[in-house]
Amino acid sequence: MDNRFDVVIIGGGPAGYVAAIRSAQHGLSTACIDAWQNPGGPPAFGGTCLNAGCIPSKALLESSELYHRARNELGNHGIKIAKVSLDLDAMQQRKSTIVQQLTDGIHSLFEANGVRGLHGHGQLLPNNQVQFTPHGGDTELIEGENIILASGSTPIELPSIPFDGKKIVDSWGALEFDEVPQRLGVIGAGVIGLELGSVWHRLGSSVAIVEALDQFLPMVDGQIAREAQRQFKRQGLDIRLGAMVRGTATDKSGLLLQYDDQQGSHEIAVDKVVVAVGRRPYTDGLLDPLAGVELDDRGFIVVDKACRTSAPNVYAVGDVVRGPMLAHKGSEEGIMVADLIAGDRAEVNYDVVPSVIYTAPEIAWVGKTEEELQAAGVACKTGSFSFAASARAKAMDQAAGLTKILASSETDRILGVHIVGPMAGELIGEAVLAMEFQASTEDLQRTIHGHPTLTEAIHEAALAVDRRAIHAINR
Ligand code: FAD
Ligand code: NAD
Repeated sequence: MDNRFDVVIIGGGPAGYVAAIRSAQHGLSTACIDAWQNPGGPPAFGGTCLNAGCIPSKALLESSELYHRARNELGNHGIKIAKVSLDLDAMQQRKSTIVQQLTDGIHSLFEANGVRGLHGHGQLLPNNQVQFTPHGGDTELIEGENIILASGSTPIELPSIPFDGKKIVDSWGALEFDEVPQRLGVIGAGVIGLELGSVWHRLGSSVAIVEALDQFLPMVDGQIAREAQRQFKRQGLDIRLGAMVRGTATDKSGLLLQYDDQQGSHEIAVDKVVVAVGRRPYTDGLLDPLAGVELDDRGFIVVDKACRTSAPNVYAVGDVVRGPMLAHKGSEEGIMVADLIAGDRAEVNYDVVPSVIYTAPEIAWVGKTEEELQAAGVACKTGSFSFAASARAKAMDQAAGLTKILASSETDRILGVHIVGPMAGELIGEAVLAMEFQASTEDLQRTIHGHPTLTEAIHEAALAVDRRAIHAINR
């Protein structure tokens, strides 16, 4: 093969593969090296997101929610089902099929765009040389005029509770259970803990989530987090805050998860433990010490606003650099870098990266929380609208939650939108677009929303900012 490329990308997750496609669209000769190999399966592009993150988790969230609704909520619609039973093998098979279709899709996109996809390990050497070792093959040297590092992240392991791949697992392990654990312990009430805790709770596990912090979802607007916590409690998720995990022990009842809180020491008997205490940037074997790429004290590759590293013509994008560990953030960085390499102007607007937690109800937000604005001394006005007054949410039998909008008292510009409720992850798109266009709440108020849709909750919350909501009492 010709071993010289305009762009060589190491890492084929949503940051790397998107950067590769955009580079090729610019007419740049592009290679994307990726090391991912599913156990017992062929190598696959797509990284954590497609193989062990976003996609398999959303497939199981969807299936488990349907199972839960069939068992507990369809009766409210007058639909009687004599017996609902679970075929976990079929559910897992469906998930795997979706993953395979999407990872195969990247192969097709690479082919269609002329990206050279290379399965194996890449290491950056000095002077933009990359040492490529194919799975089971001989090492060769590849040269890139430009290099993009997109090696992603990996789960943090607690020294006191090491993964054993059977009873103590990371998020990937928790997506692969072949039977529903009767009692599941989850360490960390963050995004993964709540999403995967919800999956197995809906499928029948008794789930206890232990969280070190006293505050529930501190990155979420306080009012929204409180409402979410109330809903999860109603569902029976046992979330214990201020709980410092000590370790595990075994007795005749099985595995014991041990933690301390202000009341003292506690043990929870569980069958399996999912450790979901965050992820760390992954750079193992990525960088020759002489490559000149600087890491910070937490192991992230240091980059500037344009994702340039400390080495000339070497960029880094996605989970391996600062910022939220989200697939769409990494993809936007990949697009920006490819555009910059091609000589275009490009930037990422980090102020409007949406976040979504795919629980039921979903939680989604963009921009600042009320607490952040208060702390920064920004005078703001708020408007909120409860889904209990949304005709569509009622028709869906999913009327829990609210939409909240924060806007500048001075200029009316929208500063943050926060939703806990049905399809919040879809609804937030309108708020992201409005904020990208620097809209005011008056812009949203004067935008016609279809009736009856969930989007009317955003319209009404915008009206509520000026105490002009139509379907709520303005106070
Ligand atoms: P990754 O997806 O981690 O990809 C990096 C790739 O680089 C991997 O394939 C890896 O094998 C490869 N690689 C690493 N080093 C080398 C090397 N030296 N040589 C060759 N290849 C290498 N985010 C969302 O936005 N929405 C979600 O719903 C969501 N759900 C998630 C659910 C779970 C359970 C988890 C764990 C994560 C979830 N995330 C979600 C986070 C999302 O998966 C990450 O933000 C995203 O995958 C980061 O993309 P990336 O391309 O930077 O890295
Ligand atoms: P997280 O940072 O969201 O949550 C980790 C939680 O574990 C925190 O609340 C933290 O306080 C707690 N914790 C840390 N150490 C602990 C200890 N010793 N005992 C008890 N609790 C402890 O991390 P995560 O849930 O592992 O997710 C990792 C990343 O993946 C996140 O950055 C997230 O953005 C991304 N992700 C995103 C999505 C999504 O977009 N829907 C879904 C899953 C994961």
